[in-house]
Amino acid sequence: MYNKTIKELSLLLKNKKISVIELTKIFLDRIKASNLNAFIHVDEELTLMQANIAEKKIISGNNLTQLTGIPIAHKDIFVTRHWKTTAGSKMLANYISPFNADIVERLKKAGTVMLGKLNCDEFAMGSSNENSYFGPVKNPWDYSAVPGGSSGGSAAAVAARLVPATTASDTGGSIRQPAALCGVTGIKPTYGSISRYGMIAFASSLDQAGPIAKTAEDCALLLNVMIGFDKRDSTSLQRKNEDFSYGLKKNTKGIKGLRIGMPREFFNVNLDTDVQNGIYSALKEFEKLGAKLVDISMPKTNLSIPVYYVIAPAEAASNLSRFDGVRYGYRSKNYKNLVDMYKKSRTEGFGEEVKRRILIGSHVLSRDFYNIYYLQAQRIRRLISEDFQKIFTGPNSCDVIMGPVSPTVAWNIGNKRDPIVNYLSDIFTLSTSLAGLPGMSIPCGFSVNKPIGLQIIGNYFKEAQLLYIAHQYQNITDWHLKKPKL
Ligand code: GLN
Repeated sequence: MYNKTIKELSLLLKNKKISVIELTKIFLDRIKASNLNAFIHVDEELTLMQANIAEKKIISGNNLTQLTGIPIAHKDIFVTRHWKTTAGSKMLANYISPFNADIVERLKKAGTVMLGKLNCDEFAMGSSNENSYFGPVKNPWDYSAVPGGSSGGSAAAVAARLVPATTASDTGGSIRQPAALCGVTGIKPTYGSISRYGMIAFASSLDQAGPIAKTAEDCALLLNVMIGFDKRDSTSLQRKNEDFSYGLKKNTKGIKGLRIGMPREFFNVNLDTDVQNGIYSALKEFEKLGAKLVDISMPKTNLSIPVYYVIAPAEAASNLSRFDGVRYGYRSKNYKNLVDMYKKSRTEGFGEEVKRRILIGSHVLSRDFYNIYYLQAQRIRRLISEDFQKIFTGPNSCDVIMGPVSPTVAWNIGNKRDPIVNYLSDIFTLSTSLAGLPGMSIPCGFSVNKPIGLQIIGNYFKEAQLLYIAHQYQNITDWHLKKPKL
């Protein structure tokens, strides 16, 4: 049962082959037996209450959606009523929000049953899930390896079949990279598509939520519910509703003539041989389906690392100033006066990486350095976006861009102690985020026992096209069905 996709489970539930309670219990038992550390918070009672409501809906046959009765879990960066929301931080270790994040509410209304809150890097800062106050998550393919980050819990839980699908967030790659390292499918839609209301802010001009699941089809079902205008988020986009599953159901016209750009800079750098081979074989499959591979250049790829690691910390320093020990979260026990209370609460409440970013962010925003770091980074950010537009709309334009998600497969826990080395692993995901474009990761092979992810990047609002292309690939390959020893 736990190997089934949402699409399959939905049918079984509707035809009453299994009840919501039975299904929910299967996953709750799996979570209890797992030692991946993927979940921070589980509350069977709350879960079973939701399962009961969904069960009643199914029995009555009213207000059913394809997600009614489907168990899911949320990255612990989305606030939830009644459940703790920690953002992977000691700062919020006991925080319970008085309201639900927009996507939590949307998925609840659609009838999903929430299994719990998923481990992640502290305030979503990281590429390996080792920065969580609640300890690292293990990669289900190899328990000594990282699952990727920051949505490591979200990806590991789907890969280990602890839950059919999860929510995640991507500021610079945190949906795509853990999806790649855990061998599951994840998509980050266009910036502004999914409301950021109730998503604990890291870098507001980059943060974007998205789903992780086993297949592109399942991601489409989730996006259908998650995407939508929300007036409580000033960057939320108002657009016509789109059915992301529609294209997948249609009589497939295939992808004949699809022009796939292969950025030179994504292939000739320090790319693991196995990863390179995996990506090339995937591209060959696309060629067999009738696509055309086009050599392109994204000359500013290398700059995306310094640009991102100036802008994201700058925004983080500003966003995290709200954690002062007064209004939210942790407050130091011993302090002399107000200023001392601020200092000690923040010193004791934040982890090392978060503090590092607050320092960098404050530095690049300071009067003497603002021009040379922050402003300059914003200028290059614009040039990176323009490079994408040249590829998507210029002469000899490409429909999509493909390449690796990560230069390597999952590395061992503890192996990248130097933060800079960690930052470098984001080389292929950051530019998409800086440009606000949609990007996804699909499984496309293995290096020994560790999964490889193929990245597909599209122009703004091309989520449906990305899902369609991924679906075509998943129709003729079975990488997405492979699972770790359970
Ligand atoms: N690895 C990147 C970082 O550490 C991206 C994280 C994310 O997308 N949330 O900031």
